[in-house]
Amino acid sequence: MQVPMLDLKAQYAKIKNDVLASIGEVLDSQICIGGPKVAELERQIAAISDCKFAVGVSSGTDALLASLMSFGVGEGDEVITTPFTFFATAGCIARLGGKPVFVDIDAKTYNINPSLIEKAITKKTKAIIPVHLYGQMADMDSIMDIAKKHNLFVIEDAAQSIGSTYKGKKAGSIGTCGCFSFFPSKNLGGIGDGGMVVTNDEKLAAKMKIMRHHGQGSTYYYDFVGGNFRLDPIQAAALLVKLPYLEEWSAARRRNAEYYNKKFAGTSVKTPYINPDCVTIYNQYVIKVPNRDKLIEHLKKNSIGCAIYYPMPLHLQKCFEYLGYKKGDFPESEKAANEVLALPVYPELTDQMKDYVVEAVLEALE
Ligand SMILES: *Cc1c(COP(=O)(O)O)cnc(C)c1O
Repeated sequence: MQVPMLDLKAQYAKIKNDVLASIGEVLDSQICIGGPKVAELERQIAAISDCKFAVGVSSGTDALLASLMSFGVGEGDEVITTPFTFFATAGCIARLGGKPVFVDIDAKTYNINPSLIEKAITKKTKAIIPVHLYGQMADMDSIMDIAKKHNLFVIEDAAQSIGSTYKGKKAGSIGTCGCFSFFPSKNLGGIGDGGMVVTNDEKLAAKMKIMRHHGQGSTYYYDFVGGNFRLDPIQAAALLVKLPYLEEWSAARRRNAEYYNKKFAGTSVKTPYINPDCVTIYNQYVIKVPNRDKLIEHLKKNSIGCAIYYPMPLHLQKCFEYLGYKKGDFPESEKAANEVLALPVYPELTDQMKDYVVEAVLEALE
């Protein structure tokens, strides 16, 4: 048996005709930039996120970048975030001349530890970017309290967490804005790059719409320097077909996770900790085991996909050497990078496939 980390072909097989038809509408209309598909996707994503506004952009990365640009983050400004995330979270800050200021994670959830944030705040701090890692939201109440006290913007990096909740509130709806990614491997994945910014701030939404179009206020008159951050209507067409399945797919991921949890109970496999305040969408199902290398080798031998998100925390990356961090600065992030392993959790997994994965994991640990 083979169990890949993700099987997008299995998903596509069920929706192929609808996707092709929806893309065909874009092609027939020859509205190749913006247009009704993008507007409709924005309307629907705003609705499922309990946000008033949504602005389609070119990627999750550009959602973060355009948000930071809208808040005027630039040279010398500090933005607090976690070092245990995908590169883009901090990369966007650095690209604008800002300084990523890292704060260690909570060992259980892998999300930024709010009790360490205030110590990192200086006069130059402009914003906090909590990341909702693996599909589970960060401790937003504590983060928002700190942000309000110090008058900071909060950008939720919800690239891995569309549809997840914290105390019943949707990802993206709590901070100043939230950023989604439609990278194909996310729970709501496009057929290429895409992203979205959601917010309840009308002025911010209006600015973002100008921002994604070079800062153009009216035709060939520019209010500020923006970029080409537009969402492709072909992506919107595919995403509109997929969006109605999102809940169902995320529920299937949760069922798969529970299945694994039951089978791993009482073994040396450490299963994911889910904060009782949160409903996760399991973009990743991440375990910890005593001997990760041995397990990876055994899974490979048995044609089972697995992945490490992420093997090196950002403060130790070569490109961020200039920030002056060193090994040992963020012990929980460093520990997590050495211990975590994501197993296949995609919705189309069968019980037989899951059993095969469980069997292989337990074999390797014997
Ligand atoms: C995927 C991801 C991004 C970037 O999204 P892209 O659409 O790939 O640009 C940013 N942050 C996190 C946490 C992600 O997982």
